[in-house]
Amino acid sequence: MNELSLDVCAKNLGKHGFEIEIVSSLEEAGNRLREEIEKIHPQTVSYGDSITVRKTGIVEELRQRKDLMFHDGFNPDLSREENMEERRKGLIADLFFTGINAVSVTGSLHWLDMVGNRIAPLSFGPKRVVLLTGKNKLVSTPEDAVKRIKEIAAPQNVARHPGFNTPCAKTGKCHDCNSPQRICNAWLTIERCFPKGRILVILIDEELGL
Ligand code: SF4
Repeated sequence: MNELSLDVCAKNLGKHGFEIEIVSSLEEAGNRLREEIEKIHPQTVSYGDSITVRKTGIVEELRQRKDLMFHDGFNPDLSREENMEERRKGLIADLFFTGINAVSVTGSLHWLDMVGNRIAPLSFGPKRVVLLTGKNKLVSTPEDAVKRIKEIAAPQNVARHPGFNTPCAKTGKCHDCNSPQRICNAWLTIERCFPKGRILVILIDEELGL
């Protein structure tokens, strides 16, 4: 089912202007990210927080590199204000990468964000965007994508941040809250990639992330 979905999804995303690659493992996806960096020689790189991206080890590698400027908005050594400034700079990085909350096999990409730093550069800014996603993020329709995000991704995302005082932190379900710590603030759907090929989607044949 998922094998078929990956192929169908890739075909439909391709029709919508996205560059697509299917890889068999997270390791392969991480190597593809490294290849991309060597290929385009970006002067500046940034990222939006993503369990899948972090698992590749690329964030630690970029923190060590001296040949490019890495705008790391999740640096534990920086204050919140300093991290926010890094995220602002990341909006116009040459290369930006992150994960995806849900992918419709009909060929659209979907996110729900708290701060907005993850979704803003996906629409415009960075010259090149690379997105990693596990096969567990695939759904049948854009409506199912919204449902997946609200019912699975958002409550589970809250659960991995201890100290969040939202209703979903207690029940594991979304209550469409009005909490100051609400993580569900801004939606992004990308239906077509413009310019064509600006966004590379790497579909990974493994279950990864939330
Ligand atoms: S809207 Fe509130 S309750 Fe629902 S998932 Fe988001 S943070 Fe949790």
